[in-house]
Amino acid sequence: MEEGDVCLPSPQAVTVLDFDRCLLKIHSYGMRMTPEDVEEADDLVFQGYWAIPPSRLKEFLKEKRVYIASFGLSEVIHAFLIRAGLDKMVLGVLTPKLVGGVDGCSLPSGKNALLEMVEAAEGLTDRSFLTLYDDDPNNIRLALEVGFGAVHADPLAEALLIDPVV
Ligand SMILES: [Mg+2]
Repeated sequence: MEEGDVCLPSPQAVTVLDFDRCLLKIHSYGMRMTPEDVEEADDLVFQGYWAIPPSRLKEFLKEKRVYIASFGLSEVIHAFLIRAGLDKMVLGVLTPKLVGGVDGCSLPSGKNALLEMVEAAEGLTDRSFLTLYDDDPNNIRLALEVGFGAVHADPLAEALLIDPVV
């Protein structure tokens, strides 16, 4: 690489976000929220994201190819995205029922079966072009073991996905 060259992300780069306690500050499944709860909840319930600052969220979703992979209820996630005006900005919501599991229950391989769906949909030539952000270190470890990119979005660290330089 020559001096002054810029290292750009792969054009195939894909971001996969966990939902509860990653994209969303609260744990909607842990709270047993329903789509109706999402519609009726106070805005304060949704304030703040650990992975992405709220003020940058729409910009982030416009710039990136973003999917959500969650063990929660797809109906609740869709209700949230609609309420937040984000439903057209996320390319897919992947939950266990799409791979033979049950929404609300974790999968034996962590998020990997869901990540493989994204890999196929995007036609990725290299798994490392996909990056999972998740607050559960087990999902991160399992994704890294099979070659996906993965970053622990630690709620306590308020990890930010957005490079402040970009
Ligand atoms: Mg989570």
